Amino acid sequence: METSRSIATFRALTAAARVRGVQIGFVPTMGALHEGHLSLVRAAKAQCGFATVSIFVNPTQFGPNEDFARYPRDEEGDLRLCAAAGADAVFLPAVEEMYPPGATTRIHVATLGEHLCGPRRPGHFDGVATVVCKLLNIAQADRAYFGEKDAQQLAIVRRMARDLDVPTEIVGCATVREPDGLALSSRNRYLSSEQRRQATCVYASLQHARQAIVAGTLDPIAIERTMSERLNAAGPCRIDYASVVDAETLQPVDRIDRPVLLAIAVWIGTTRLIDNLTVDPSKPHR
Ligand code: AMP
Repeated sequence: METSRSIATFRALTAAARVRGVQIGFVPTMGALHEGHLSLVRAAKAQCGFATVSIFVNPTQFGPNEDFARYPRDEEGDLRLCAAAGADAVFLPAVEEMYPPGATTRIHVATLGEHLCGPRRPGHFDGVATVVCKLLNIAQADRAYFGEKDAQQLAIVRRMARDLDVPTEIVGCATVREPDGLALSSRNRYLSSEQRRQATCVYASLQHARQAIVAGTLDPIAIERTMSERLNAAGPCRIDYASVVDAETLQPVDRIDRPVLLAIAVWIGTTRLIDNLTVDPSKPHR
């Protein structure tokens, strides 16, 4: 496995692979890797032949009071995990490599960023869209792999790639969970053991909401209420949102008569957890 800190050498690695005739898969990450990330690396390797990964904690997607400084970083461990998962090349740029002095151009995300995390994290999705666009331009991959765990991010990246004619195919991959349902996240390591137990309420609330929809509750307000009640019943927490939105447009719905995304963002102590489930009321058992 090769590593590179410069755009030029990383591009040379992928160019050499292309000359050998393999396809290139790319997995952008912020490191502190876990099985969720590694499932994307394995998919890239299996589907493309040459798997590339970026590890970059992108400062422009963190708000001033967010966890950029304390975001977990473990380069050595991450490289070991990448190698074991079959990665061929890892890109580890410094902030100055990605944002040289005078870098002022930014992508602005409009409607898909209006709800869910958008209003709670001003500027976050502009930062995500900008860095992902840059990384896709750098990697020049055939396919790039993203987790459905970050459903709004995936929708925004897909739209950005379409709107800006990015030739890389965007592939969404299923959320990897702990046995008790908690979605794997680099931020789970912030949780105390008691908070970790409480955190199972996130997926449990989503599943309970799905069952209620399948049983015929098609009023989004009622579903949102039941998700919030479940979260609050599990212990002290601060709910950013427990929402039902159209699965495609991410806009609120009046009635659950089409595929919807059930999405939760909740603070347990100082840790913000997000998770989601898609429910299609016309195919209740999927
Ligand atoms: P991050 O390092 O948090 O920016 O995540 C990098 C990529 O891994 C994103 O596409 C995430 O959606 C994806 N990812 C994070 N957690 C999971 C998970 N539990 N299952 C699947 N993909 C995930």
